[in-house]
Amino acid sequence: GTGDLADRIDRLATMVEDFPRPGVRFRDLAGVYAQPATFGAAAHALAAAYRDAFSHVVAVEARGFTLGTAVALAAGKPLVLVRKAGKLPGPLRSVKYDLEYGEDVLEMQESAVPPDGRVLIVDDVLATGGTLAAVAKLVTEGGAGVAGFGVLLELAGLGGVRRLHPHRLVALRTDR
Ligand code: AMP
Repeated sequence: GTGDLADRIDRLATMVEDFPRPGVRFRDLAGVYAQPATFGAAAHALAAAYRDAFSHVVAVEARGFTLGTAVALAAGKPLVLVRKAGKLPGPLRSVKYDLEYGEDVLEMQESAVPPDGRVLIVDDVLATGGTLAAVAKLVTEGGAGVAGFGVLLELAGLGGVRRLHPHRLVALRTDR
């Protein structure tokens, strides 16, 4: 069951203190990707959680590409890549969002999702929610809908889920 999967993700994820900066407790999910049975089950679980509620998978650079690709293949749905500024050829839509220090820009190709599309937005980890909220804005500004978000791991202590409102979040594992 899903509880099982959450336990497996927890066991395979490692925590690295003070990486990449002092004070950050970095969750390294390499162990999940290294175990095909768990990685595959995670992709299928996210695809199943949203069933026919989505038309496209939107994967977020860079660590969202891994899981997003697997979910798109598991669901048999088109994959769309959201990238950092300057990586995609146009025409593009872009969104600026705040980081802990400074800001960043994410871009998506204008024709990637039609206005009647409904996307499942995938990343590896939900931390503050700034990244996923920015991607939702990027998608809805183009007229498409957001079916919801899917992540391997939610760091609940950072309250990121509040920034995702009113969209649904499925986190396969939540750390409190
Ligand atoms: P945020 O916008 O704060 O929700 O950050 C989300 C992005 O930053 C995700 O794409 C994660 O890959 C990465 N991230 C943020 N905090 C962590 C953490 N403690 N461990 C691993 N990845 C993180």
